[in-house]
Amino acid sequence: MAGTTPLYDTYSRTPLRFVRGEGVWLFTESGERYLDFAAGVAVNSLGHAHPHLVEALKAQAEKVWHLSNLYDIPGQESLADRLTKATFADKVFFTNSGAEALECAIKTARRYQYAKGRPERFHIITFEGAFHGRTLATIAAGGQEKYLTGFGPKAPGFDQVPFGDLDALKAAITEATAAILIEPVQGEGGIRPVPNEFLRELRSLCDEHELLLILDEVQCGIGRTGKLFAYEWAGIAPDIMAVAKGIGGGFPLGACLATSEAAFGMVAGTHGSTYGGNPLAMAVGNAVLDVVLADGFLDRVRDVALVFRQALASLKDRFPDVIEEIRGEGLMLGIKARLPSGELLQAMRSEHLLGVPAGENVIRLLPPLNVTAEEAREGLARLERAAEKLRSVSEKKSA
Ligand SMILES: *Cc1c(COP(=O)(O)O)cnc(C)c1O
Repeated sequence: MAGTTPLYDTYSRTPLRFVRGEGVWLFTESGERYLDFAAGVAVNSLGHAHPHLVEALKAQAEKVWHLSNLYDIPGQESLADRLTKATFADKVFFTNSGAEALECAIKTARRYQYAKGRPERFHIITFEGAFHGRTLATIAAGGQEKYLTGFGPKAPGFDQVPFGDLDALKAAITEATAAILIEPVQGEGGIRPVPNEFLRELRSLCDEHELLLILDEVQCGIGRTGKLFAYEWAGIAPDIMAVAKGIGGGFPLGACLATSEAAFGMVAGTHGSTYGGNPLAMAVGNAVLDVVLADGFLDRVRDVALVFRQALASLKDRFPDVIEEIRGEGLMLGIKARLPSGELLQAMRSEHLLGVPAGENVIRLLPPLNVTAEEAREGLARLERAAEKLRSVSEKKSA
């Protein structure tokens, strides 16, 4: 049955109408204020209407909006230069979204094997619970039935193994394998960090079998875990990495990063995007990096994250009938609920606190990276009131 709006009915939206944002706060049409720990699903990395980002976008808007990739774009050169200096990568391809960054990553890996004279190697191993986007290739990579059903045959070349299962992974490597693709912290799947030791194992398996290691840091990248990229915690480097969400701070922007070796097959004409690397997006991306790469910024992310994490652990101890487990790294936190997570999200919302649902009955807390300790405490106080309410409800139920 079609809904009553002219919009596709693909989303079941919360009936809240925000018209303005400022830092960690969102304001509704009627002027009610919400603490935004959803941050547009980890996109508003510096909160709403950050003055430096607003200024960068306005300044660029008065110069030139769009050029296409027929010409050199200075903003692309500076952003790519900064990204490569700050990471393992030598090369960058700009996109408008996470799924497109993944598409580029998948194509780069396949093309690498092809260019090395191994065209039969096009399979990519992925992990259960993964989320890589909603294009036809990325739903095949994610392997989730609920996203694949009804859209014709699943795109070939994606082999999935259980999360964290090294033996299954080893068994899945064949003569047709090109790469391994993994989120260092599963986001959509329920805030499931991959142990550092496992990432190191993946790195050595890739080296041993001449496979490429592709990381999907669309959600966990750009400071979210307290490092610029989550892979840094494991002390390894990928060959290819997809980035999006936080890098645009709210402007649609993604990037595929690669070593020059991994990007070896991506010669002129092999890939393209009309909007990718658009000057407006580049201006905002550079402005985000101005803030995130500034001295001490990531230290503060880690400090606030620690306070947050400890307070959440104590909430869990005090409300064991509401909170089953606290998960995550840095400011990419998950609350696994004891009761249906929708009830917790609803109770949070009635305290004017926003979070994001995820798999495994988890609520994600993804506050802006520049959230202050005071704002974090305000969020925790609201969460506590929400848990309090739910506990009294569950006590009434059992009474
Ligand atoms: C959001 C997300 C994507 C998809 O990004 P879009 O911009 O929605 O295409 C891919 N991978 C991960 C890990 C994500 O969180």
